[in-house]
Order: sequence, then C-alpha cells, then structure tokens
Amino acid sequence: MDYHLDTIPVIDALKEDDECLLCVIQQKRDKLYTESFLGGSVTSPETRVQVNEHGFCPYHFRKLYQQKNRLGLALITHTYMRETVRQLKSREKKLPLNTKKKLFAVKKGDEFRQFEEFCQWLENKHNECMVCKKVNEAMDRYIYTMLYLFRTSEDFRHGLQNSRGLCLQHLKRSVEIANEQFGAAGAAEWLRFIMPLMYKSFERIDSELDWFEKKFDYRFREEPWGTAEDSLVRALQKMVSDKFE
Ligand SMILES: [Zn+2]
Ligand SMILES: [Zn+2]
Repeated sequence: MDYHLDTIPVIDALKEDDECLLCVIQQKRDKLYTESFLGGSVTSPETRVQVNEHGFCPYHFRKLYQQKNRLGLALITHTYMRETVRQLKSREKKLPLNTKKKLFAVKKGDEFRQFEEFCQWLENKHNECMVCKKVNEAMDRYIYTMLYLFRTSEDFRHGLQNSRGLCLQHLKRSVEIANEQFGAAGAAEWLRFIMPLMYKSFERIDSELDWFEKKFDYRFREEPWGTAEDSLVRALQKMVSDKFE
C-alpha cells in the first residue's frame, strides 16, 4: 500500500506532549468523521449506500446518539435496519433449517459450517463501521508519515526522543507498517528507538498511579496531587487507545 505523506498534523500532535501523539490525531479525526455522518455527507447517495451496507459499531452509534440529531440518526438507522433485514432474510433462506442431522453425526459437516457462517455474518455486522474504517485509513497514513519523519528528519527524531511514546494499539500498528514499508530492519530500528520511551512512560504512570491510589487514603487527602490527578485517564489511554473524558 502506498501512503501519502501528511506531515503537519503529526508535527503538531508531537508538540502536545500527550501519552500518544497518534491518539491526539485519532481523537480529532474521529470527531470530524463522526460529525460528518450527521452533517452534509449523509445526503450524498454514495455515502448512504455505504452506511446502509456497513452501519456503525456500537461505540460510534453511541457517539452519533450523543450528538442529539435524533431525526438524522433515525433516518440513517431506519434505512440501515431495512437493508440489514433484507440481507438477513436472504441469508436465512440459505440455511439448512430442515436438517435432521444430529451433532455427533455432522460435527463439522456442511450444515455445521453454514450455521457458523451465519453467526460470523452477524458478528461482522456488529463490528463493521464506516467511522472506524475512515479513521483507520487516515491513521495508517499518519503512522506512515510519523515513521517517514523518524527516518528522515533529525528534528522530528529529537522531538520524539523527548516524547511519551505511544499507546499499545498504535505501537502495534506502527510496527506492522514499519515492517510492511521498511522491512524487518526498519521495524527493528523503530522498536529499538520506541521501546525505551514506552517503558519510561509506563514507569512514570506507574508511580503516578501509586500516588493517585494513596490520595484515597485520608492520611494523604491534604497532600498535593502533583501530576497524578489525571493519571488514571492517561493509564487507560495507554492501555486501550482511547481518551476518557
Ligand atoms: Zn495512541
Ligand atoms: Zn466504529
């Protein structure tokens, strides 16, 4: 896959001194794309077709619900539901609903597989998401840009050296993209650079969480928070790549 470079958002995100510079970009993209589905783009026929086909994951349906455009969301949900029911009927028709075969006879037979595929289709329906898809595509481009800057810009590398590293999911994707785009040697170079920053960052949050927990003890109630007050939020971001508000 070829990625286009888009350096400014990456350089700007690094300046924010966040637990993960990629989470900073992701949060902005997520907001932008989520809002776009209840804004102008929802009227474009092409987008409507895609939304009817794929819908949104529970996380993004919740975000859309929180925007309080109930009519807009009702229209989207309505056509998505109709399309899903149409697909459901056509899939159900193909199932061997009159089979007499018992479990011991056909444990992994065709019928078994057909029911499995039906469940897998329902599972995919639950996870498919137009916002996730757009965010993930954009994030791959920014991750590639970050790796490119790491390899080509002394300034950026220096900035990264003083950063707090990445969250676990963005670490994972950065290693995958480094491996794909710059080979195993590229992935190794990236890991040698980023892992010490990751550990340093986890150690810092570890001691901040110690203090966060102590603050619930009455003996420490009057002591200053220091930097620990938002340490739980930052620990969660590090672990699950989401900013809790
Ligand atoms: Zn992240
Ligand atoms: Zn989603």
